[in-house]
Amino acid sequence: MPFSYANISEFIPKIDTFHRIIGSYQGDIPGPNLVFFGAIHGNELAGVYALKKVLDELHNLRPEFKGNFYAISGNLKAIEQKKRYIGKDLNRIWFPGCIIPKEEREIIQEYHEKIEILSVLKDIVANDHLTLVFDLHTTSSQSVPFVSISDTLKNRKLIQNLPVHLVLGLEELLDGPMFSFFSELGVPAVLFEAGQHEAVSSFENHVAFIWLMLHKLKCLKKKDIPDFNSHKVTLKKNTMGKRRIYEIKYRHLIDDCDNFRMKEGFVNFQKVKAGQTIAYDKNGKIKAPRSGRIFMPLYQPQGRDGFFIVKEIKPFWFRLSNRTRKWKLDSTISLFPGIKKLNNGQNAYLIDKTIARWKVISLLHLFGYRKMEYNGNSIVMSRRPYDKVFPEPVEVRKNIEEYLEEMRK
Ligand SMILES: [Zn+2]
Repeated sequence: MPFSYANISEFIPKIDTFHRIIGSYQGDIPGPNLVFFGAIHGNELAGVYALKKVLDELHNLRPEFKGNFYAISGNLKAIEQKKRYIGKDLNRIWFPGCIIPKEEREIIQEYHEKIEILSVLKDIVANDHLTLVFDLHTTSSQSVPFVSISDTLKNRKLIQNLPVHLVLGLEELLDGPMFSFFSELGVPAVLFEAGQHEAVSSFENHVAFIWLMLHKLKCLKKKDIPDFNSHKVTLKKNTMGKRRIYEIKYRHLIDDCDNFRMKEGFVNFQKVKAGQTIAYDKNGKIKAPRSGRIFMPLYQPQGRDGFFIVKEIKPFWFRLSNRTRKWKLDSTISLFPGIKKLNNGQNAYLIDKTIARWKVISLLHLFGYRKMEYNGNSIVMSRRPYDKVFPEPVEVRKNIEEYLEEMRK
């Protein structure tokens, strides 16, 4: 479906040609680099338009600004073709082992997009200030806005008080999303999903999110943000109810030959019951394997995740885990039956699923661990790096440079 914001409303900026750098606003006061990405998926342009809108306002008003604001386009070739991606999904190729072989680099456009993105980021990080990444997306289904993070305490703090749902565990189930990769490199990163691709509310949510983050990171004072109070109101209104925290419990992976199609009419976060028909494929009906809420049902041709099922985490557990992580109480986890601390220097636990209760995995999630390896009846879960402290910018730059070198081999 063609993207048509530019025709819908005159307050949405016009963009004639899409470039890698949409624009930047450099402050006079030294401070963090806030790097926003739009259209990592080429058919998700709301973020790019929102970034342009905020940039236009900043250049117009010239407010005092601490740090630097950068707006970057993602998959340029896919934007041109109004597609999610060309050769490979640009939001599924970010992990250490993902080195696209030389012979495929000419066909897989995303290899070049990724190199360019990392090169831009390397240059930004060079000013030796803290760098943070915000990745703006939209969904094929109707959706309220939500954020996702790699669950470190630092990332949790970034999105505290943002009146939108938080979804945890996405990075553990998706193969190589960009936001979790940057978190691993030492760059705090937030994924923001604003709503359905073509909904005007998605554009509004992105604009609100960008301003609120610029304020949260103290780049701008309240008084210098146009309609400051309206931004929280916009997100609250479009969230339609109170902010909740969800954990992903199930992922339905699909292949091109599956002939997968969602049953019409599901909206993101809609309640589903175990056994309810929610999609179809070449083998017939696909029923929900468990009760919960349907998450990111796929209503577009490209993509490998048919749908997810999420379950709410009660705020009590979330708050408790904040404290236990600060106090390092997670070490008591090895007192549970079936759990053994591994002496591999990575702060990891081996869980014997035949002995440990299933709740243990949820508990370890809340303590900031994620699943690393499955091996029959056992699972290895290890701590995410940089949970409580940001690394020095020089370390981040080194991490990016090393990865770029690896990719070019
Ligand atoms: Zn996306």
